[in-house]
Amino acid sequence: MDVQDSLELFQRYLQSQKQHITQTRLKIAEEVFKSQNHFDAQDLWRRLEGPRIAPATIYRTLDLLCRAGLVRRMELENRALYERVIGRPRHEHLVCVNCGVILEFEEPLIEDRLADVAERFQFRRISHQLVVSGLCPDCQQNP
Ligand SMILES: [Zn+2]
Ligand SMILES: [Zn+2]
Repeated sequence: MDVQDSLELFQRYLQSQKQHITQTRLKIAEEVFKSQNHFDAQDLWRRLEGPRIAPATIYRTLDLLCRAGLVRRMELENRALYERVIGRPRHEHLVCVNCGVILEFEEPLIEDRLADVAERFQFRRISHQLVVSGLCPDCQQNP
């Protein structure tokens, strides 16, 4: 799945929600789909050469991308980070509280257990957040 396919999914989502498809929204989405890592709204704003795009437009577009299921948002100590979903494996995060490094891990058992829990409550899952905070190996050695 490449950037073009993701953009098409986003446009279809906007249409289905009767939202305007604007050049600015598409430009923001394209930059998101090209990203390889976790980023916050400011990183994105800087990459888009900021001033010409209002920060509110960036937040609004990120919100739409999350609702469309194309972007995942996570809260880390009062900071919202985003990452694209498509073309990447499902994963969870370990975050070092000292240096801020974010490690990703895949654990299918967690997915299975969450599916069981959702079923037990007859709950249709949209997303979840699991962030383990702690100290990475480097920071344990050099406190
Ligand atoms: Zn660390
Ligand atoms: Zn991640």
